[in-house]
Amino acid sequence: MKRQIIDTIEKYDKIIIHRHVRPDPDAYGSQMGLKELIQANYPGKQVYAVGAHDESLTYLARPDQVDQALYEGALVIITDTGNTERIDGEFYTQGDLLVKIDHHPDADPYGDVKWVNTSSSSTSEMIHSLFEVGQAEYGWTMTTDAARLLFAGIVGDTGRFMFPSTSVHTFEVASDLIKFDFDRSELFAGMYEVKRELLHLKGYIYQNFKMDDNGAAFVKIDKAILAQFNVTASDTSQLVGALGDVKGICAWVIFIEEEDQIRVRLRSKGPVINKLAAQFGGGGHPLASGASVHSWEEADEVIAELKKLCE
Ligand code: AMP
Repeated sequence: MKRQIIDTIEKYDKIIIHRHVRPDPDAYGSQMGLKELIQANYPGKQVYAVGAHDESLTYLARPDQVDQALYEGALVIITDTGNTERIDGEFYTQGDLLVKIDHHPDADPYGDVKWVNTSSSSTSEMIHSLFEVGQAEYGWTMTTDAARLLFAGIVGDTGRFMFPSTSVHTFEVASDLIKFDFDRSELFAGMYEVKRELLHLKGYIYQNFKMDDNGAAFVKIDKAILAQFNVTASDTSQLVGALGDVKGICAWVIFIEEEDQIRVRLRSKGPVINKLAAQFGGGGHPLASGASVHSWEEADEVIAELKKLCE
């Protein structure tokens, strides 16, 4: 499969890489890391990484702007995106060939060529595996910037190597990547430095979450609370893992009220929760999933289902 993808990359002069909406470090890392690798190893090709920019990821890179006309005859690669609804960018079907590279469950097997590995910690780790084949068989070399981007994606999706998806291979890849001369402390600062206000909201979460005897926990953060703490809905992504430190927790859901929906962010220490997310129109990984609901009553239904999973 990796050889097939590299052979495909070699065939096209124009390559446009997409990733998911509401990007995180693995979305940027896999997308922009792949772009860097292709560009460094095939300097004659035009390679673009597209999608709306998220200011909180400026420390990593910035996407490119492309016109619809550019898709004509292009190879389109989508990284880190399980289903078509989550693809950022509307013209991805207008290229010549579509490739999916992802580590989410393959609920929506789109694309002409698919490489899905759900046991990989991150899509960035998969891009590194692609690089390894490129290096061994096609003479690819790694660049410092590609190493920095892939390392960021791996760190982000493994929760700094703490999630169970972190494997021996993940550490091997990380140890390979840190041989390159990028500033790790600057990267960690970009990823984890938080506004003081966010820490106050974290305190609020620790004080206000509810947990039943089985370790099913939830907390609701509505617009008034976000305003009170002067924090935006998207800022809160850095707090979703916080409850994982609570002794006895089984699974948890954090509700964040946005403009016209309530974002449901689910995490688990054991029970598989992506089916629950799918029940509410979302999806994701077995232990980290998300969805959106449209009322607090619906949010209560999510809580009731989560409690059942922890019984
Ligand atoms: P988040 O809480 O946004 O970090 O989401 C955790 C994981 O859940 C992501 O990696 C996605 O795979 C998945 N996810 C979140 N929201 C949705 C959604 N609305 N539909 C499908 N998958 C989602």
